[in-house]
Amino acid sequence: MSAIVTTSRDLCRRCYSCVRRCPSKAIRVRAGQAEVMPERCVACGRCVRVCSQNAKQVVDNLPAVRELLSKGDCVVMLAPSFAAAAHPLRPGQIVAALRRAGFSGVYETAFGADLVARKYRERYERDPFALTITSPCPAANTYIQKYAPELIEFIAPFFSPMAALGKVLKQRIRPGCSVVFVGPCTAKISEARDPEVSPWIDAVLTFYELSGLLALRGVRDVESLDDEEFDPPHSWTGGIFPVPRGLLRTAELPDDLLDNDVSDVIGTDAFVDVVERLRERVRTNHIAELETRFFDVMFCRGCIGGPMMPGSASYLTRKERIVAWMRSRRAHLSRTEWEQAMERYADVDLTRSFEDDCQRTIEPTEAQIRQILARTNKLTAADELDCRACGYRSCRDKARAVFQGRAEVEMCLPYLIEKLQGMVESLNRSHQDLTEAQAQLIRSERLASMGQLAAGIAHEVNNPLGTILIYAHLLRDQVDCGTPVTPEGLRSDIQMILGEAKRCKGIVGGLLDFARQNKVNRSEVDVGTLVREAVGIVKAGRDDSIRYDVVVSDPMPAVSLDRDQMLQALSNLVRNAVELMPTGGTLSVRADWLAERRELRFRIRDSGPGIPEEHMQKLFSPFFTTKPVGKGTGLGLPICYGIVKMHRGTISAFNNEDGPGATFEIVIPVAQEEPSAPTANGFFQPIDGGMT
Ligand code: ADP
Repeated sequence: MSAIVTTSRDLCRRCYSCVRRCPSKAIRVRAGQAEVMPERCVACGRCVRVCSQNAKQVVDNLPAVRELLSKGDCVVMLAPSFAAAAHPLRPGQIVAALRRAGFSGVYETAFGADLVARKYRERYERDPFALTITSPCPAANTYIQKYAPELIEFIAPFFSPMAALGKVLKQRIRPGCSVVFVGPCTAKISEARDPEVSPWIDAVLTFYELSGLLALRGVRDVESLDDEEFDPPHSWTGGIFPVPRGLLRTAELPDDLLDNDVSDVIGTDAFVDVVERLRERVRTNHIAELETRFFDVMFCRGCIGGPMMPGSASYLTRKERIVAWMRSRRAHLSRTEWEQAMERYADVDLTRSFEDDCQRTIEPTEAQIRQILARTNKLTAADELDCRACGYRSCRDKARAVFQGRAEVEMCLPYLIEKLQGMVESLNRSHQDLTEAQAQLIRSERLASMGQLAAGIAHEVNNPLGTILIYAHLLRDQVDCGTPVTPEGLRSDIQMILGEAKRCKGIVGGLLDFARQNKVNRSEVDVGTLVREAVGIVKAGRDDSIRYDVVVSDPMPAVSLDRDQMLQALSNLVRNAVELMPTGGTLSVRADWLAERRELRFRIRDSGPGIPEEHMQKLFSPFFTTKPVGKGTGLGLPICYGIVKMHRGTISAFNNEDGPGATFEIVIPVAQEEPSAPTANGFFQPIDGGMT
C-alpha cells in the first residue's frame, strides 16, 4: 500500500509534534526521524497540518488527473466546502475555470450529499433505535476499521456523498466518463482507493493542488472569468454538509441539543473518546443501554476545517461563505427540478460495507513495560513524569510504543537532560584533571628547562674556567720555580686567561639579558628608526660585501614597544644573518603594518646557507649553536624568543622558497593589553622549536 502522507527526512527536526497529534499512533520514530506507517495511517492529515517544517508531504495527485484529462470525457466534482475555499475568487469562477481546464462536466458533490442524507433519513425513520455511526468521514471510518473493528457493524452502510455522486455519474449520467473529486480532505485519497469506491472515483485532488492544475492546463486570470453554474443535477440542502451538523440538517434529523437520541461528535479528540467509550460498552455488553442512538462523527471540525482547506479564514467566516453561496443559488435553482432529480436516482444502490482492517498490536506485559521504563531511569512511579515531550500522553504509553517498535528509548527529554548533565559533570571533572595535569607538566617542563639551563651554563662556563685555571697554575708554577719566561710567552698566557674570562663574562651577560626580559617597558616607538638602528648596530665597523635592503611600509603608525628589548631582538637576528654570509649576500629587513589584523610584522631575510631541517626544532633552545667554540653562546635566539613572548607576539623561522637563505619572522599584536603580571622569563616556557 503506497503511503498518502510521507516524511521528507531532511526536513524532519525531531519535535515529535506529529507523534503528539496522530490519533492512530501511525508515526514511527526511527533514527530520530518521524515517519508515517501507511498500514496504521487513517490519512486524517493532522500530521501535515502540525508540522512546522513541512516535513510531512501528501502524495502528488496531479499526474493521475492530467492523464485522465488527456484521455477525454473526464468530469470533476467539487466538495461542498469549495465555496469557502474559493475566496477571494467567486465559487462560480472556479466552475468556469474547471471547464476551461478541460473537464467535460463540473458537478457538485452536494447533490451526492442530498442522496446520502435521504438514506440516513429513511434508516432513521425505519428504525430510530438502531445504533448508527455516520459514514461520510473516511478518516473516521478507517479509524474504526483499524482500531475499533467491534464497532464496524454500527457504521451506517452507505456511500459517502463523493462515492454516491460518482456512482450516479458513471452509472446513469455519463457512462464511460472518468471522475475526479476535488476537496479539502487527505482521507478522501484513501477512500478513493477502497475497492467498493474505486469503480466510481478515478482520482482525488486536494484544494491545494487545484491552482497547480489550472496553471498546468493554461487557465489564467480566473478572477476575470464570469460565473458559471454546475452541470445538473443541482443540490438543494446538501451544500451545508461540510459544516458540523450538516448531515443532520440535510437529512432533516433532529439536532436538538436537549435530545439525547442524536449526538454530533466533532473533532478528533471527541471522536477517539467516543469510540473508546463505545468499545467499552460493546466489551461489557452494555451497548443496548446507550441513550444516544445516532452519532454524527467527523474527524475535523466539519469538512470546512479539513487539512487541505486553503487560507486562514476562521471557522465562522468559512461557514458564512457556505451559507451565502447556498442562498445565492436558491434564487435561481428550482426545488421541483431537484426533487425530480432525487426521484430519478432514488433506485441507485448507495449501500456499502466496511471491512475489518484491525491494526491492534500486541500489548507488552507489566514486566516488559517496567523493563523499558528502567532503560530511561524510571524505576518508581515518581520517576514517570508524563511530560509528553516525546509525543506520548504518558511514560507508559511511550514504553508501549517502544515495545511495539514505534518509538525509540532516547526520545525521553528528562532522561536526555539528566544524561547530558552527567556528561557535562564528567567533562568538567576531566577538564579539571587535565588542567591539573597541564599545570604539573608545565612545572616539570620548567624544572627540566632550569636543569637544561644549569647544565648548559655549567658546560659553557666550565671550559673557559678550566683553561683559566690551567694557565693561572702554569704562571704560578713558573713564578714559584723561577722558570725564565719571555715577555711574549707571558703575554700570550695572560691573553689566553683574559680571552677565556671574557667568554665567561659574555655568557653571564647573556643570562642577565634573560633576567631583564621579565618586564616590558613600553613607549611609542618609530618603527622605521628602530629597524634602521638595529641594522646600523650590526653594520658599524664591518667591512663586508653584503647588500642591506631596509623597507618600512607606509603608513606605519607609531607603535608601543619596549624599544631596548626590540632593538636587541632585531639586531640579534640581523647579526646572525650577517655572520652566516661571510662572503657577502643580501640582507633584507622589512617592517609591515597589517592594518586589518592590527599587527606589526618584521621579516629578516638573508641569502645565507639556510637552516638544515634537523636544526629547525632546536633553533630557540638555549645553548644551541653551530658556531665554533668561543664564537657563539647559543643564547641569541632564545633571548629573541623571550622578548617577543613578552610582547605577546610570535617568532618563527623558515627557509626561503624562492632562493637561498632563511627568513625570521616576528609578529607583534598591537592593540592587545599587556599581561597583568609579568610571567616567568620566556626561557622557562616549554620550548618546542617554532615558537608562538
Ligand atoms: P649563536 O648565534 O650564538 O649561535 P643563536 O641562538 O643566535 O646563537 O643562534 C643559534 C643557531 O641558530 C646558530 O648557531 C645557527 O646555527 C642558527 N641560525 C641563527 N640564525 C640563522 C640564520 N639566519 N640562518 C641559518 N641559521 C641560523
